[in-house]
Amino acid sequence: MKRSCPICEHSSSELMFRKEGFDIVQCSVCRARYVDLRLDDGFAADFYTDDFFKDGYHKYGYVDYVADAANHRRMAAGAIRFMKRHVRGGTLLDVGCAAGYFLESLGPEWDPYGCEPCRGMAEIARKKFGDRIAVIPFEEYRTDMRFDVVTMWDSLEHVVEPAQCIAAAHGLLKDSGLLFLRTPDAGSPAAKLLGKSWYHYGPPGHLHFFDRKSITTLLRRHGFRVRRVVYLPRYVSLSEVLINLGAMLGSRALKDLSAKLARSSRWNVSIPYQVFDEMVVMASKEAF
Ligand SMILES: [Zn+2]
Repeated sequence: MKRSCPICEHSSSELMFRKEGFDIVQCSVCRARYVDLRLDDGFAADFYTDDFFKDGYHKYGYVDYVADAANHRRMAAGAIRFMKRHVRGGTLLDVGCAAGYFLESLGPEWDPYGCEPCRGMAEIARKKFGDRIAVIPFEEYRTDMRFDVVTMWDSLEHVVEPAQCIAAAHGLLKDSGLLFLRTPDAGSPAAKLLGKSWYHYGPPGHLHFFDRKSITTLLRRHGFRVRRVVYLPRYVSLSEVLINLGAMLGSRALKDLSAKLARSSRWNVSIPYQVFDEMVVMASKEAF
């Protein structure tokens, strides 16, 4: 056994299955699921290079993140509509902001900041936001600012130490500030039905597989109270659907074919889908 539970820190776990050469285990105490792998601090900088965001399908990354901007903006708009029901605006830090599509979708009532380990993506975001974008893994992010809102869209499952990130978000928020995050739900019907083939079991890109219980445990341990959990529709390109299908069938040929299709704009069709396997969690900072 190589690593203790990233949520409750117990060292006892059971093997669920092996995928892509990695052991995916479940904590015997809190039932959290994670990749049984010790990673050093340099992992994020080494792994989240430009080839994760372009032609990155061989490591559960993106075919072409920038070409898919329209879909990222549609998803950002949905997330912002949900946020607006609970908060009017203010200072906001987006953790793992990539090229900044979420930040640029925010209205003038927001004062946006971001943090992104991939230099290529951060440079695109910096064209819009300058040095408000820190080119650094969140674990190393430091500022004297305090935020009204911290967001983590599809990023918590990627980080090496999720507990450290949630604790850091707590420290960066103002009193009663809000954390919004989206992460795959390993307790969803789709995840249960597909089992090991579920496309979100994608190590070492995805290192943690939360469900409603384990994300609630993690947030509570670090001073948050979960207020809402919702499932918003996603917008994906046809090529992403094919790649997920290829991943499920274990077919490298299908992944290669969809990457080819993605390069032809005719095939870069946007498809809305909703299978309720990605949860959006809103949590409020509580006093310790
Ligand atoms: Zn645990």
